[in-house]
Amino acid sequence: MSAASHLRIARLAATPALHRAFRWLHLQQPQLRQWQLEILRIPAPPFGEAARAAWFLDRFNALGLTNPHIDEAGNALAEVPSAAPSDRVILISAHLDTVFPAGTATDPVEDDTRILGPGACDNAAGLTALLALAAALRHAAFVPGVTLLFAANVGEEGEGDLRGMRHLFRNGSGGSPYAPRIAAAIALEGSGSATVVTRALGSRRFRVTIGGPGGHSWNDAGTPNPILLLARALVALEVPDAPWCGLAAASPTENRTTLNVGHIGGGTSINSIPESAYVLIDLRSTDAGTLRTAEEYLRDLLQRAIPASGTVTQQIDVVGDRPAGALPDDSPLLQTLRAVDRHLNLKTDPRLGSTDANIPLSLGIPAIAIGAGGLGGGIHTLQEWYDPTGRESALRRILLTVLDTAHRAAGEDYS
Ligand SMILES: [Zn+2]
Repeated sequence: MSAASHLRIARLAATPALHRAFRWLHLQQPQLRQWQLEILRIPAPPFGEAARAAWFLDRFNALGLTNPHIDEAGNALAEVPSAAPSDRVILISAHLDTVFPAGTATDPVEDDTRILGPGACDNAAGLTALLALAAALRHAAFVPGVTLLFAANVGEEGEGDLRGMRHLFRNGSGGSPYAPRIAAAIALEGSGSATVVTRALGSRRFRVTIGGPGGHSWNDAGTPNPILLLARALVALEVPDAPWCGLAAASPTENRTTLNVGHIGGGTSINSIPESAYVLIDLRSTDAGTLRTAEEYLRDLLQRAIPASGTVTQQIDVVGDRPAGALPDDSPLLQTLRAVDRHLNLKTDPRLGSTDANIPLSLGIPAIAIGAGGLGGGIHTLQEWYDPTGRESALRRILLTVLDTAHRAAGEDYS
């Protein structure tokens, strides 16, 4: 790490405005807990985040942030502006959605220091941090180097397929006016104050459907059977030279590619020849190029395993697409984070993950997903919990990283 980054962080941490922000964070921990409980009381199932977004819009308004609004995708947005108008913005985001379907009882309960409830950590911890950082900057009257864009975004989990983030980074018609301006992105995700996702695991998800004429099991015997055809095709996926085979030799994170057949369905009854059968396939890779090659390989195998005929149809629908990408080791954003961690005596632990940061990383825009502090467990279960012990130091870490990144975006070229 360069001495220059270290010095810059030490100077930033010593400014009176930052002291005011840190002090606010220190005194307002009960307020943060209150916000987190309020967030959890508003259900946010996939594709049902509107009520929680509206709550954020109210908070953004109450804090007096600039240009609070809900965008076309349903993301709640607001700005903390720089002194002079800036072309560039730094995006700080946290996802609104949970994995829990509508109707799940979401009311949190408290025990000792913990908050228990579905989504308590993922991502009520990130959402609380988002609001806390905006509030601390407002109370401290901090003026960042370039404008900070705060986003409580939709669609991170599963079927959401990163649609909130995709919208923010989509240029041109139907896209976001912020897209060409985002110089770096920091996604607040779950708990922890050491791990940081700097490499985006790519995935492509498919629904493969085989159709046939169907018929009576006795009268129409001999008619092509979609379940049998699909079964044959799936067995054919296990060929030794396929990109997803040979996993034992691959390291857990380097150039690893996996294929999972996760769900299968079809047919009508025991005495009917099925009219259709389908399967859901999840393909993942740490490398964007390998992911493309693996998909071609998969499509080719399926094509050959299920020969074209007049009565048999085969359809492949893409039901999920998360692009791969990585933050280069010499990226200014990573230098900043390392310097901040050294300043705060934290360890930097870069990881691989599938998060909202996939979108900017796949576009070559510097991005990380970072823990919002505290501890959490039971993620994606009804027993999920969050313990805010240690949250304050993680919030300092994020604040210093964001502000130094804004400072550098004002004076330095990121591209
Ligand atoms: Zn999450």
